[in-house]
Amino acid sequence: MPSARPVIIAGAGIGGLTAALAIAQRGLPVTIFDQAERLEEVGAGIQLSPNASRVLLGLGLGERLQRHVVVPEELRVMTAESARVLARAPLGDAAAQRYGAPYWVIHRGDLQAALLEALRAHPDITLHLGARVDDFAPDDDEGVTVGVLAPDRYQYRALALIAADGLWSRLRARLGHRDAPRFARHTAWRALADAGAVEADLRAPAVNLWLGGDAHLVHYPVRGGRLVNVVAIVRDDWREPGWSAPGERPDILARYRAGRWPEAPRAILAAPRQWHKWALYDRAPLAVWGEGPVTLLGDAAHPMLPYLAQGAAMAIEDAAVLACALSERRDDPAGALRGYERQRHWRTARAQRAARRNGAVYHLAGAAALMRRLALAAMGGRRLLTRYDWLYGWAPP
Ligand SMILES: Cc1cc2nc3c(=O)[nH]c(=O)nc-3n(C[C@H](O)[C@H](O)[C@H](O)COP(=O)(O)OP(=O)(O)OC[C@H]3O[C@@H](n4cnc5c(N)ncnc54)[C@H](O)[C@@H]3O)c2cc1C
Repeated sequence: MPSARPVIIAGAGIGGLTAALAIAQRGLPVTIFDQAERLEEVGAGIQLSPNASRVLLGLGLGERLQRHVVVPEELRVMTAESARVLARAPLGDAAAQRYGAPYWVIHRGDLQAALLEALRAHPDITLHLGARVDDFAPDDDEGVTVGVLAPDRYQYRALALIAADGLWSRLRARLGHRDAPRFARHTAWRALADAGAVEADLRAPAVNLWLGGDAHLVHYPVRGGRLVNVVAIVRDDWREPGWSAPGERPDILARYRAGRWPEAPRAILAAPRQWHKWALYDRAPLAVWGEGPVTLLGDAAHPMLPYLAQGAAMAIEDAAVLACALSERRDDPAGALRGYERQRHWRTARAQRAARRNGAVYHLAGAAALMRRLALAAMGGRRLLTRYDWLYGWAPP
């Protein structure tokens, strides 16, 4: 029997939506609030490695997602100095067999739509938009009272409060964590190109990674192969928070100058008409996340740089672990949340640190870049994949 008081989730990003589904599927009612009036994902792609796809499949989203995903056959690594493929890590069947779940790439809007469709079909989940969670106070009886502005002020009693309110989480600060996000001095430029506008090799089912001194580039097909997702990451001091500042094509092309970058990456950068950019931030790992019946999830807990493509994957993993902890200890929500944090802290901290390290390696220049090229060639594609066994091989409790 579902308990009377719901679990409240603040934030309906990928983390919050997945948590709502996972918790409701364990028999607990969920109310989820998002401050946005409408839920619109940015027009960009996302990689879903096997540790994430396994959770989504376990939530019964396979059929909804299969329609939209692309299964990349390989990860190809190239450098600015040469258009030659330096290393190929097998994905596709090789990853699915090795990890027991597929490696997918998908448009963020398609992932969000699949999550929302499942959530709206679930009788124990209520979603409120235009509703900001801005305060909470623990109750005497182990639950929590949650303050919501929508636009009037409302109070809800809940079994637990999950703050899935993203990188700039106010609830994290309300929990006493005053550390500010750390600016990485890099900007991600993102765009989608019509697959028909790029050469066949550039729209092949593969994740392509181009490495250069002060920039790198990732591109892969999404939306069943009809679009190509392009992410160009450049060194920059522009640091405005937010996800949707417009960017001008000539400005990003100028960062990948002819002579320093081969024709193929420049062609993919020239293809999209519209660009958006955002400044990259992360934070250092946090030892203790929550207090009493309140905890953090996703970017609110462990924001990381995108160089490991694991931010959303970690939020999806959080959701599965949290749902299990809450369902096993529904009479002791605070104990359940501390158990969840203990299970998640070490792994998410490792991912945060690995993402920072990848960033340093991606942007090596000069002699260090040469060493990287030699190391990559020596490592070979298979090893490129298997060194991430600790990440991709994870399975929910
Ligand atoms: C360039 C780039 C590429 C990336 N690529 C990948 C990738 O390939 N794979 C991967 O796994 N990850 C990737 N990531 C990371 C991933 O996008 C994030 O980790 C993930 O989206 C975080 O989800 P979230 O639900 O925790 O937070 P968010 O998506 O930020 O959602 C937070 C939600 O909370 C709402 N909100 C905020 N405050 C409140 C409040 N007080 N009350 C109610 N609602 C509130 C917001 O409106 C928002 O909807 C990438 C990130 C970047 C920048």
